[in-house]
Amino acid sequence: MSTANQSSRAKSKATVVDADLPRCPECGSTDRTDYNDCNTIEFEGVHERFGSYSHIVLRRTRCKQCDRARVDRFYEMRRAR
Ligand SMILES: [Zn+2]
Repeated sequence: MSTANQSSRAKSKATVVDADLPRCPECGSTDRTDYNDCNTIEFEGVHERFGSYSHIVLRRTRCKQCDRARVDRFYEMRRAR
């Protein structure tokens, strides 16, 4: 588990968006910068649209239209059955 400390509040806050339809929560644009950070969480579950997954991957990006930071969330099955 990660610990959040309050000094991170000064950084731009990012909204998490499900990545089947990643778009800016601010202006609705799908135009984004390249993903510059990747955070993989081992977490098994079943998503109602993506099906079963073994990992959740968070990728940080930024809207090209309004510069709003956000995190696109991917559900990936990486386990061979
Ligand atoms: Zn935007």
